[in-house]
Parts: sequence; C-alpha cells; structure tokens
Amino acid sequence: MRRISRYRAAARMIAAIGVVSLVAACSGNGGTTGGGGTGGAGAGGYPDQNITFVVPFSAGGPTDTVTRMIAEPMAAKLGGKIVVQNVEGAGGTVGAGEVARAQPDGYTVLMHHIGMSTAPALYQDLGYKPLEDFEMVGLVTEVPMTVVARKDFAPATLQDLVTYVKANADKVTLANAGIGAASHLCGLLFQTAAGVKLQEVPYEGTGPALTDLVGGQVDFMCDQTTNTSGQISAGEVKAYAVTTPERVKSLPDLPTTAEAGLPQLEVSVWHGLYVPKGTPQDVVQKLSEALKTALADQAVIDQMAKLGTAPVPAEDATPQAHRAKLEEQLGTWAKVIADAGVKAS
Ligand code: ASP
Repeated sequence: MRRISRYRAAARMIAAIGVVSLVAACSGNGGTTGGGGTGGAGAGGYPDQNITFVVPFSAGGPTDTVTRMIAEPMAAKLGGKIVVQNVEGAGGTVGAGEVARAQPDGYTVLMHHIGMSTAPALYQDLGYKPLEDFEMVGLVTEVPMTVVARKDFAPATLQDLVTYVKANADKVTLANAGIGAASHLCGLLFQTAAGVKLQEVPYEGTGPALTDLVGGQVDFMCDQTTNTSGQISAGEVKAYAVTTPERVKSLPDLPTTAEAGLPQLEVSVWHGLYVPKGTPQDVVQKLSEALKTALADQAVIDQMAKLGTAPVPAEDATPQAHRAKLEEQLGTWAKVIADAGVKAS
C-alpha cells in the first residue's frame, strides 16, 4: 500500500534526525465535555439531548473546520443537536483524554486526526490508550498539508527555504500545534530533510498559528489545506508546496514537495470520530450511519473540495475500517518516533 511505504520513507527521514528531546509547551485550557448524558443503554431514544463534539485543537483551525462541516448534516440525520467544543492543549492530547474519561453514552464524541496514532509514542503519561479507551466511529477525511510562510519571508521557493533556514537556523521560527500535532510531525520531516534544528513555536492549534503567520509573528509552518487554502488564494501567506504526491485541484499552481525538490516531505492527515469505550454498539452504529450520510452530502463534498480534500469512501466511515487504520498507524508511528528518539516530557 502506498501509504505504508510513504510512512516508511517518513520513518527513515525522522530516524535521521537523531535523538531530539522536546518539551510539551502547550497546556490545555481545561473546559468540560458535554457528556454525562442520560441517554440510556441503547440507541432507542438516542439522541435525547445535545451531543458534544470535542475538537482537541483551537477554534478556526483545520480540525475544527472539518468537524463543523460534518456536524450539521450529522445532527440532521440523528435528529438532534450537536455542539462543537474546543478542548485544546498538548498536541490534541488534553481533549482526547477528556473524551476517554467521559460517560460512554454517545453524548461526547471526539474528532481527532493522525495525532491519535502518534501520541502514545511521544507522551510518557498520556492517560489514555487509543485502542482500549475508545470505540471508533469511522474515518472522515485525509487532508494534504502545505508548507507556508509569512508573505514577506525572504525565500521564494522550497529549495530557497531549505538554503535559507540552514544559513539562519538560530533566527528562523517554525510554528506548530504542539507535540504530536500534524504540523509538528510535518515540521520534523522538513527539518530532517533540510538537516537543521529550528526554534519551534507551539500553539494550541494551527488556527491561531496561521493568524500569527499572516501577522508576521512567526516565519513558517506546515498546515492542512483545510486551514491554509483561503490565505494562499488571497496571497496572505507565501506557499511553497503541497505535501502529497499529486497536486491539489483547488491549488493547481502549488507544486508538490517532490516537484519542488523535497520528495522526503510527504505526509497527509487522516481524521476520525471516537466515543469513549463502553458506548453501546447501537449508538456507535447510529453515529457511523450519520457520519456516512454527512460525507455523502453534496454541500460537504463541495466545501471539502474547495479546501483541497474529500470525504473518505463510505466503507471507510465505519468502526472496522477506522480501527484497522488506527492499528496500522500506531505501529508505523511507534517505530518512526522510537527511531527518532523524539519525546514530549
Ligand atoms: N492541524 C493542526 C495540527 O495538527 C491542529 C489544528 O487542527 O489546529 O497541526
């Protein structure tokens, strides 16, 4: 499978970075999840109260955007109301931990991304086990990343960027959404490919990171097309490349990292929905059916296409496909991260 070999390439790249010790600088803002529902043991009356969708990153960022896109059509299918809550911090692990400990009644649902598969290898006291503490509802989408910089940043191309950061490693700042976030992993791949160690600036999500990038407070970062497309098209940021093997239709002028001379920098960000372990199976099934309906919604397909992505096929919006993906990714990233010696302390 192409994705496995892609991550093998990533493994080789990250392994080459050597032993890096990183400190988790993001802290959660707390917040409570909806949870505590009285929905009963099965799906019969479900939902009979608001469902909380927890986003473990800041409002306005890419995970938040995808969540809000599917929340409305899912709520319509379920015949209830969905409230989106941002529980940020530590690369998405604060929000994930809250959902792991929430009532297993289907009223607290987590949207998470690739970070679900990287955190166990990065954090010593994670406080939850992805495969044991959650039920998987289904996969949602897989999103390309882009390498973007403040618009007055000197390097003009990706190759120029590599040359520039090597010469200015002590000055250049690289934003991310905390250890284990997609932006952090992509930034690691970039630094490995370029052979540099840069000063990283962690945020609680790439929503605020992008705001600072546009404002010129940080130099560059990797982020999903679901967050950067608008600013790229409007010329508010400088875009160097997209991190997938093919160009993104909505950003046709943007070269791939391979075309731009950095084929090692290849990563995309899968997303899935989770509920706490012990959630009744018929409730999980109902959520999965609602997810499938949302992903087939033409408005969702169109919105995603505008932002450089697409819903997963219906057969992947299932607990089985999601579990298989998570199992495969946990194994892949455990090895990559162990080889690299990267840790959040
Ligand atoms: N996309 C971000 C990341 O993982 C997180 C976010 O959604 O803000 O880097």
